[in-house]
Amino acid sequence: MDFEHIPHAAPVPSATRDEALANPGFGTLFTDHMVEIDYDADKGGWFTARVCPRQPISLDPAAAVLHYAQEIFEGMKAYRQEDGGIALFRPEANARRFNQSADRMAMPHLPEELFLESIRRLLSVDKDWFPTVEGGSLYLRPFMFASEAFLGVRPAKQYKYLLIASPAGNYFKSGAPAVKIWVSRDYVRAAPGGTGAAKTGGNYAASLVPQAEAIEMGCDQVVFLDAAERKWVEELGGMNLFFVFDDGSVVTPPLSGTILPGITRDSLIQLLREEGLEVREEPYSIDQWRDDANSGRLLETMACGTAAVVTPVGTVAGRDGEFTIGSGGPGQLTSKLREKLVGIQRGRMDDTYGWVTRLS
Ligand SMILES: *Cc1c(COP(=O)(O)O)cnc(C)c1O
Repeated sequence: MDFEHIPHAAPVPSATRDEALANPGFGTLFTDHMVEIDYDADKGGWFTARVCPRQPISLDPAAAVLHYAQEIFEGMKAYRQEDGGIALFRPEANARRFNQSADRMAMPHLPEELFLESIRRLLSVDKDWFPTVEGGSLYLRPFMFASEAFLGVRPAKQYKYLLIASPAGNYFKSGAPAVKIWVSRDYVRAAPGGTGAAKTGGNYAASLVPQAEAIEMGCDQVVFLDAAERKWVEELGGMNLFFVFDDGSVVTPPLSGTILPGITRDSLIQLLREEGLEVREEPYSIDQWRDDANSGRLLETMACGTAAVVTPVGTVAGRDGEFTIGSGGPGQLTSKLREKLVGIQRGRMDDTYGWVTRLS
């Protein structure tokens, strides 16, 4: 598909941009351009693609996404390499997952090659938007939504795919401090047969009240239990979990349809197995978690995802009290895996898996 290029007539002046890039924060600073691709079932599918100035989009008030939430997204990062080049981490996995999410939400596939091409195009025009701070990256947000003006309930016939980019600082200022998480008892994130395995905005909307409860209880993040028995630990609002035991084995909840299949999760499973550790994808209950933390059998718990990479969980709090994992600080394996993954992403360590895609 041909991309039309419409350069920004008044891009952010370089002095202003460079100042912003020294302290980008997360999610509020954006690059000059975006990618926009339109879909219409009656026009045979995806029909126009352009790289254009980032600007507000106009939508009909009856656009289906505003009423029935037919929307999916991805979250990934582009990394400046040691030698000045740019690289992506397993972008084809994001392209594939985007279409798996599309399947669940009754949306059309975006050809994987078009997804990847949109990223290459945006990065080629906005390559001067990489943060200058240590640990910074360019966060990429591809997303698709139903734009058809129609209030009936059925899959829409018109969609928009957009890609925006946001320079991001180090999620944590120095290293990765251990987080305190809150066990939600009144709310669940996903039910069997629901949309938990799809990266769709509605899952996040449903997590906001429990996440606010977690903050109110003095915690950083909420952890969800399964919807059926309220017993099995699933994941955080946007991160998968791993449990590290004193016999050298590691457990992570299985992908049973209610958990988002994280690409960081998949990468960690591979790295752990390469280390010679046994990784079991099996259910782990909240009671067992408490007992194992108290007995000392559980050494570490880590949360993982693109935004914060690998983060130690130090304390777990709930209605019936709290427990501490290990010393309550970052564990050895958590720190080691974090360094390894960040090293591969930034080109400081050998990429023996073929995970890194160089763009320049
Ligand atoms: C995106 C996401 C993750 C992490 O996935 P990564 O591919 O590792 O970034 C985990 N849980 C939820 C609910 C998510 O939306």
